[in-house]
Amino acid sequence: QFSALTDSLTSSFSLLPSNTAKLTPTNISPALQKIREALISSDVNVNVADQLLDRVKDRAIGEKVKGSVTGEQYFTKLFYDELVTLMGGSPTSTDDDEKGLGNDSLEGGSIAYPKKKGEVTVVVMAGLQGAGKTTFTAKLGRYLQEVEVDKEQVEGMGKEELEGTLRTRLPRRMRKVLVAPADVHRPAAAEQLRVMCSRASVDVYTPTDSESTSAVAIAKGSVQAAKEGGYDTVLIDTAGRQTVNEGLMEELREVNKAVKPDEVLLVVDAMTGQEAADTTKAFDSAVGLTGAVLTKTDGDSKGGAAVSIKAVSGKEVKFVGTGEGVKDIDAFFPKRMASRILGMGDVISLVEKASAEVTDAEAMQMADKMKDATFDFSDFMKQSRLVSKMGSFAGVAKMIPGMAGKIDDKMLRTAEDRLKKSEAMIESMTRQEKANPDLLITDRSARSRLERIAKGSGNEFQDAMGFVGEFQKMKTMMSRMQKQMAGEGMDEEEA
Ligand code: GDP
Repeated sequence: QFSALTDSLTSSFSLLPSNTAKLTPTNISPALQKIREALISSDVNVNVADQLLDRVKDRAIGEKVKGSVTGEQYFTKLFYDELVTLMGGSPTSTDDDEKGLGNDSLEGGSIAYPKKKGEVTVVVMAGLQGAGKTTFTAKLGRYLQEVEVDKEQVEGMGKEELEGTLRTRLPRRMRKVLVAPADVHRPAAAEQLRVMCSRASVDVYTPTDSESTSAVAIAKGSVQAAKEGGYDTVLIDTAGRQTVNEGLMEELREVNKAVKPDEVLLVVDAMTGQEAADTTKAFDSAVGLTGAVLTKTDGDSKGGAAVSIKAVSGKEVKFVGTGEGVKDIDAFFPKRMASRILGMGDVISLVEKASAEVTDAEAMQMADKMKDATFDFSDFMKQSRLVSKMGSFAGVAKMIPGMAGKIDDKMLRTAEDRLKKSEAMIESMTRQEKANPDLLITDRSARSRLERIAKGSGNEFQDAMGFVGEFQKMKTMMSRMQKQMAGEGMDEEEA
């Protein structure tokens, strides 16, 4: 999904400085231009694209890029932040917020729960024909009834705590839902809704004969029936039309007046790109919406709708449809959508973690050590630990823009295994050996030391020798790189 956009963004980012140089208007300009093209050809609204790029540019220029992060990675993170904000999210929200466990206002896909027992939450579903409204209504009904608990979240909880958690922390679930078939214009609509809802195990209201030709009457009847039948949520499926027209809006307004909905959700098709954003804006001005739902994000939609809707209409996307089945629904989280669009799993978290784990002072110190070739085994260990703190080596490598497709898993696993082996060997070294690599290279006792280290770490002598040799090479290379970056030393080195 969104793969064309993802690919072109990735190649745009690669035009950015790959070292830790400052970002300047000149050195980011080619990338900005290419990103703009990428966004527009993915059907992102032009004004939205420009707004996004302006913000990223403002923040990028003149900023000091942190220690171990490249200009490209840093820029990617800024772009991500602004993309998240554009889609109505907050880049600093926590995972709990994302799961709806934290701040309510950040909760994607939340549908207000009735405040008092006996009340019902009324949700009106609107949309143009073919957008996927009927399908989505059934999906939402099922979603609201189901309890899907993240195993990790509840592990180790007792029964009481578990129940409390389900009730208070996942309020959007465990409901009793009634769906109302209020599309009276398309004879087959009600039947289709029944089929989908029965697949989703969601009850559908049966209008009385006198109600059956009036959307308003069906809506009112269903809310009454819900109250009497112990339901807490009613989803009203209203008529879809070919285009935005006054007749459709008038009927919706009447339904809204009659049932005073808590939510009016507009279902739009992601395949229609920025048109979905315009439709959302039109419906919102005509009838007032509380949010949008973006269907068919599984198809070859280009991403324009997801990026543009909030910025164009002011309305947040609350859910996404990800397929034709009744389970194919997800709450919409701007952060997740942004990383999906950027397709780099998480350069973002790489940059976040790198800046959290390595202070500037530490990074400087490390760079100095590399430059002066005083980098020792303890430093190596520190770096290696940092990598494992960030997740697996493979994970980190994949986070690096442009790397994802280029390195295969086997290669990565080999590298990771070697890193682990190296760590084991360092652990078998004495403190002096760690601080003074020469003891293992040029010292007279080097051989016996390596033999001891190999044995202590469960390796062969050859492994230990190989590791030390590589370490030495790496040290020389790092030193040269650091000097080069600092723009000094090359002449005397090469001379
Ligand atoms: P309505 O006219 O708005 O009620 O649209 P329908 O619910 O009848 O959906 C129109 C078509 O889109 C149907 O073939 C659905 O199976 C399909 N559809 C709906 N939602 C999704 C989705 O999220 N992904 C995919 N791939 N197809 C969907």
